Amino acid sequence: LVDARGVRKSFGENEVLRGVDFEVRPGEVSCIIGPSGSGKSTFLRTINALETIDSGSLVVRGEQVGYELRGGKYHEWSDPQLAKFRSGIGMVFQRFNLYGHFDAIENVAASLIHVKRMSRADAHARAEQELTGVGLADHMHKKPHQLSGGQQQRVAIARALAMDPELILFDEPTSALDPELVDEVLETMRQLADGGMTMIVVTHEIGFAREVGDTLSFFDEGRVLEHGTPESVLSGSDSQRIRGFLDLVR
Ligand code: ATP
Ligand code: MG
Repeated sequence: LVDARGVRKSFGENEVLRGVDFEVRPGEVSCIIGPSGSGKSTFLRTINALETIDSGSLVVRGEQVGYELRGGKYHEWSDPQLAKFRSGIGMVFQRFNLYGHFDAIENVAASLIHVKRMSRADAHARAEQELTGVGLADHMHKKPHQLSGGQQQRVAIARALAMDPELILFDEPTSALDPELVDEVLETMRQLADGGMTMIVVTHEIGFAREVGDTLSFFDEGRVLEHGTPESVLSGSDSQRIRGFLDLVR
């Protein structure tokens, strides 16, 4: 579903991705850990074409992506083509990015109405179904400020799911939450994983990576320094960089 080979990306003089190799197969949960500034978020953003790449190959859902979207090396995408590509990839951020003046249902239904062109009634029905699925049946008519951080993040997950994504990207989805709210979000993500959803999860939750992840990649200075089963990376690694990082986050 995702196949990155030697992906490079600079912001001015700053080379943020220095040859990333990364692969995700359908149904896999791929976790990414690594120090701040190692390029984790930038890499996620290249996958749904929020960020271009300078060189290397990046194939997502069978499409060569990442080069200049217009007049680029491989293809030219119109805005509708880009929107269609992105709509197949869910994204859940550290901050929930909900619309503050919409209630939970309207937040989930908005893209269904505007991107998928669903009727309002159908979109609301689908939104209710997804919100129920993430345990928010009793909170559908609340606005973000009336919900806890964990509930808001579950609305964000329901919003991603409503679009029937083939892949969901999570960028530190629990980092902004109070500690007591982390587990309910991780539990929702675990259920998605059990249901076979393909997920890439940037996280500092080592326990989640160990228990739910099929693979674990350690990013360092714009490269994947180590990749394998969570167990092999977490326990087997003799890399000082990884040991040092794990000592910090544990
Ligand atoms: P963190 O764990 O803190 O979220 P990260 O691994 O996600 O870190 P990135 O956010 O990918 O790291 O950032 C990697 C580097 O790229 C940083 O040095 C950052 O300042 C730089 N960077 C990211 N986005 C941009 C941008 N739009 N313009 C310029 N520099 C950027
Ligand atoms: Mg980041």
